[in-house]
Amino acid sequence: MAEYKKILLALDFFDHTDKLCQHTGELAERFSASTHYIHVVEPVMLGMQDELSPIEPLGLEQELLKQSASRMQELAERHGVMASNIHIEVGSPKKEILRVAEENDVDLIVTGSHGRHGVGLLLGSTANAVLHGANCDVLAVRLKQD
Ligand code: AMP
Repeated sequence: MAEYKKILLALDFFDHTDKLCQHTGELAERFSASTHYIHVVEPVMLGMQDELSPIEPLGLEQELLKQSASRMQELAERHGVMASNIHIEVGSPKKEILRVAEENDVDLIVTGSHGRHGVGLLLGSTANAVLHGANCDVLAVRLKQD
């Protein structure tokens, strides 16, 4: 049976966040693994994407980063995850999840089966992209839509 030592949970703060944290916590306990959390803020863009009118990030991005940090801190405290194991990144969720997983020698990535981009789908687009791009195991926790 596979032994997992470092588990990375990808959180979009959409539905079922606590269920994902709980499930990941139980897995980590079973394997005596450490848990990392990641949330990726997608860049907020203004303007046309060409050389004449460069894209300007909005202050909204800073606000989203602040809110994400406080949400993560609250979840990490509740579920016993070390502050140093929290990752808040800006960029493409798929790329950042895979990058952080590789840089931290993660051996299991946990995602929800769907989130904002996957309502109505069997597997959301981020979960699907992570599954196809990862060098380690990926667990997509089935989230039922109410
Ligand atoms: P989706 O592809 O949006 O349906 O989301 C499926 C799953 O991918 C979510 O349950 C999360 O585990 C993960 N995910 C999606 N977006 C993000 C994000 N911005 N940051 C971290 N994880 C994400």
